Amino acid sequence: MSFEKVDQRDLYRCVACGNCRSVCPAFEQTGRESKNTRGRILVIRDIYEGNLTDDSVFDSLNTCTTCGYCAVTCPAGVHPPDLVEGARSGLVESGKMTPTQMKIRDTVTKYANTLGDSGSRRGWLEGTNLEIPQNPKAVYFVGCLDTYRYPETAVTTYQILNKMGAGLLEDEKCCASPLLRLGFVKEADALMKHNLEQIIASGADTIIAGCAGCYNTLKNNYELDGISVVTVSEYLASHLSDLKKAGLGKLDLKVTYHDPCHSGRHNNVFDEPRALIYEIVGKDNLIEMQTIREKSRCCGGGGGVRSGYNDLSLAMAKRRLEDVPDGVDYIVTTCPLCLRNLSDAGGDIPVIDLVELIRMANDK
Ligand code: SF4
Ligand code: SF4
Repeated sequence: MSFEKVDQRDLYRCVACGNCRSVCPAFEQTGRESKNTRGRILVIRDIYEGNLTDDSVFDSLNTCTTCGYCAVTCPAGVHPPDLVEGARSGLVESGKMTPTQMKIRDTVTKYANTLGDSGSRRGWLEGTNLEIPQNPKAVYFVGCLDTYRYPETAVTTYQILNKMGAGLLEDEKCCASPLLRLGFVKEADALMKHNLEQIIASGADTIIAGCAGCYNTLKNNYELDGISVVTVSEYLASHLSDLKKAGLGKLDLKVTYHDPCHSGRHNNVFDEPRALIYEIVGKDNLIEMQTIREKSRCCGGGGGVRSGYNDLSLAMAKRRLEDVPDGVDYIVTTCPLCLRNLSDAGGDIPVIDLVELIRMANDK
């Protein structure tokens, strides 16, 4: 079995102290050693050493959301999500994968989106009078979920960004995050090559990603020499005066903020979304969740867990909702997958994208 993507030093650096166990959201729900970080590392070692080859490894490896909380707590400096992804890709290379993995691979490779939607990727633009500027300095990378499931978020985001001169890629396709996270490195390469050509052809020097998963993938898996990748919140926080000139008002609301793992913990985008929320509702009206920033509890949606282990994924989302403080009007986030999973968990408080809060503030 090829374990090319597994960093062997990291694999054996783990001293099995178990610090990571207490923070793993999958372990919090299952209580199973094989479904916590330490257990997963032992499983990966066993696969690597040729001692474990049966299908029981999937329930261990594929229940990891790749949230990265374990890496924050690890005294040995191990980065377990990389080991999990590396092990998944080693298994995939030897033809071992679950039906869910196969379905996601087939859907993404056939439709170039995660939803299996054959509609136009520009469908969300129809009926708007939004323009697509030629040779923009920045382009908005919409992502599959906002394109097909939350087109209103795509429109709102582009309405704001377009006023600042941002454009779109001529032919955006899935960023390949689901393929990479699930171990399909070769299939991911084809999509990444396509998007990279699109990005270069656009001539832009900045990519503004509307989804935490796309952002993390574009930033860390693409080779984008001289082109920066930012979240929508980073871009808008650095263009706050333009936002204000465009009519950003104040709202008399109390909100909380959920940090998406792949923009927050994986890439340290913590301050910018908060800066924008402070601007709109005032610092005292952003009431923080029980766990925040690099210690933020995962929504349970990532790493293919929502598709492969939906009950577990929703249980994690329900647990995250317990962190919401009393008396808030909205849970604000900056990732459509978090939004979807937290909404599906069925709480009473609406979950909205930060751009929706900005839209409401613009209407004031
Ligand atoms: S905290 Fe680090 S060293 Fe300790 S068990 Fe987890 S991965 Fe291993
Ligand atoms: S990345 Fe998250 S879900 Fe995966 S082992 Fe670490 S803490 Fe658990």
